[in-house]
Amino acid sequence: MINFVGAGPGAADLISVRGKALIEKADVIIYAGSLVNPGLLEFAKEGAQIFNSAKMTLEEVLDVMKAADLAGREVVRLHTGDQSIYGAVREQMDALDALGIEYDSCPGITAACAAASSLDLEFTLPGISQTLIITRMEGRTSVPEKENIEALAAHHASMAVYLSTGMLERLSERLVAGGYAKDTPAALVYKASWPEEEKYICTVGSLAETARAHHITKTAMVLVGDFIEGSGYSRSKLYDPSFETGFRKAAAKTGTEPLPDHSPKEERSEAPQLYRAVCFSHQGVRVLQRLIKAAGDKGIAAPEAFYSFNTDAAPDGFVSVSGRLKEWVEEGFRLNASMVFVGAAGIAVRSIAPFVKDKLSDSAVIVIDDNGRNVIPLLSGHAGGANKTAVIIADLLDAQPVITTSSDINDAFSADVFAVENRFKIGGRSGLKKVSAKAIEGKAISLSIKDYPPKEPVDIIVADETDREYSLLLSPKKYTLGMGMKKDTPFEKIEEFALKVLGDAGIAADDIYAVCTIDIKENEPGLKAFSQKYRIPLISFEAALLNKASGDFASSDFVKKTTGTDNVCERAAVLGAGGGELLVHKTARGGITAAVAIRKSVSFLS
Ligand code: SAH
Repeated sequence: MINFVGAGPGAADLISVRGKALIEKADVIIYAGSLVNPGLLEFAKEGAQIFNSAKMTLEEVLDVMKAADLAGREVVRLHTGDQSIYGAVREQMDALDALGIEYDSCPGITAACAAASSLDLEFTLPGISQTLIITRMEGRTSVPEKENIEALAAHHASMAVYLSTGMLERLSERLVAGGYAKDTPAALVYKASWPEEEKYICTVGSLAETARAHHITKTAMVLVGDFIEGSGYSRSKLYDPSFETGFRKAAAKTGTEPLPDHSPKEERSEAPQLYRAVCFSHQGVRVLQRLIKAAGDKGIAAPEAFYSFNTDAAPDGFVSVSGRLKEWVEEGFRLNASMVFVGAAGIAVRSIAPFVKDKLSDSAVIVIDDNGRNVIPLLSGHAGGANKTAVIIADLLDAQPVITTSSDINDAFSADVFAVENRFKIGGRSGLKKVSAKAIEGKAISLSIKDYPPKEPVDIIVADETDREYSLLLSPKKYTLGMGMKKDTPFEKIEEFALKVLGDAGIAADDIYAVCTIDIKENEPGLKAFSQKYRIPLISFEAALLNKASGDFASSDFVKKTTGTDNVCERAAVLGAGGGELLVHKTARGGITAAVAIRKSVSFLS
């Protein structure tokens, strides 16, 4: 008797009780070595013969089955996941039929289900999709034409795409060609249920980038569809390819997620990056032109182009900063722009030297050599995002990203990235260093949340304050700043007023979780620059949503007439704060209004 058994997605205890019993009984086990957890073989009885089918042809597998069956021995043919899905099981059954050998099947948990579980997703959300499409990109095995990805995508049903990790660029293109918007939620789950599992929420458009950023090249499940967002992931976060759900859970416990009812229309990762590049030679111009074109082709933001030459040959589309490079750099640092230097690293180092201050607030600085071969994040690789941007640029130029930050080259946890991505306020540099050094040595980092007090001293505690022992304290940011302003109010005015309002209330910019406003102001250049400079995400709400905020708000007929709501700053602050209370009521000056609210969801921590 041959028993085809589904081994499940990876974790040894995700096999069925029946499947395990069959392994325990088997005299011969043939397992798919590439994906079946060898831990399952520990259930085998003493003396059982074990074969790894990864090294065998179909004929060799059948020979083993035949011989065992003839000797009256029990055979388990162990397949990854469930054998009925891409298991190549039919061909074995047909051969066994021809040989007159009996067989039976015991199902397993398929990878799509494991991936959904690891993200706590439901494929079949009423009102969103009641259908799950299981498919794959064409590889060595062809896919019938009528099932091409474009045609399947057109259904907008929930999708689980197997066997396609190496073809994500193409997969995205085909999903989009089939009618999915680029920002449709997607997820990538690497080795679901294995200890090395990694999971990322992204979008249809950022699948390939997400895989690249995390070096995922195989054994991943791609999930696509609105069910991902419907299952509770707020859209704003979906845009961030580096958003890792393991971290999200930690953050959610401390209440840093916006309340679902008040979910913001736009958030951090969508906030525009001030992104500038300067070159110093004609070769540099060509590299930048190539970068801008490649970015355009992919629909990715390209840097504004500047040049600083001794000659006056101004290339088209470039702005001259000849003789004013220092001012250009100074302005870049002041506005917290990401700056790219195309040329020798020495030029960049000398230009930025006077302005370099602090790794948590310095601008991102990146160098590309004149041939466009190497892309080097020189400054602010983590907090400023230079590493991430360098990887994107390198990909566009087909160049080598030269990453030098220890945690990245050692694949280690980085406390500053963790804090920045989860928007925690960092309580002390020394703790940051201590935790990062430990992670780089390959040691495990423990994390605790105040409501779950640890018995042992931990590396990181997330709380406002605590009397427990820790190396690094990360505190949820407590406030939101609501703002309204007249069109084209200059950045400097907005900055000055916002800092004054915060200063009067004794609040640091570092304590602000988000700047909140009405949607019609979300592209106000001065406000965007403020959000950029202080790395505070900008959240905007439609008037209809602002009207739903509850509280005692100042009311203006003029504002109501022009915007559809009687008050922007207080209502926006309160909504951004998840319905929290106002700490600073509407304050106005020179056509700018500001208010501060206390985030409701974090107040329990204090
Ligand atoms: N019969 C298996 C699928 C085999 S095809 C099942 O039912 O799961 C192999 C593909 O399955 C891989 O390319 C990957 O897309 C997916 N896969 C298998 N195990 C996985 C896991 N633990 N996590 C994510 N994807 C997995």
